[in-house]
Amino acid sequence: MSQHNSNYVRRVVLPSGRAIEVVYFENQPTADAAPLVPARRDTLDLHLCPDCDKGLVYPVEWEEASATHWEVELRCPNCEWSTVGQYDQDTVDRFDEELDRGTEALVRDLKRLTRANMEEEMERFSSALSSDAIWPMDF
Ligand SMILES: [Zn+2]
Repeated sequence: MSQHNSNYVRRVVLPSGRAIEVVYFENQPTADAAPLVPARRDTLDLHLCPDCDKGLVYPVEWEEASATHWEVELRCPNCEWSTVGQYDQDTVDRFDEELDRGTEALVRDLKRLTRANMEEEMERFSSALSSDAIWPMDF
């Protein structure tokens, strides 16, 4: 198994109004041990990458294409897959909910950090992260 690191940055606005950037490191084989659902459903889950099956796909750009459809540019930070497609409102709504869930989970983690009175450390940590000064082997 190769030790291949790829990460991606997500900007999160905390309830306090402060915006920080969180870097995800994707070198764990399977942190999310969600059961696989191989059966093709008739609904399209935009957050799932068709190439690497990671649920990390996010919208780069989107605009209204018609009264019922959105044109969305998608990118997978894990394998660099990307596409531009037109999707109906329901599909985009589901995608949006999925993205919200991801952000909520992040904010929950960050609140725990804040509660531990680590705000100052967190600031140093996040600036270290954004300057690539911290790598997974530091932990
Ligand atoms: Zn991918």
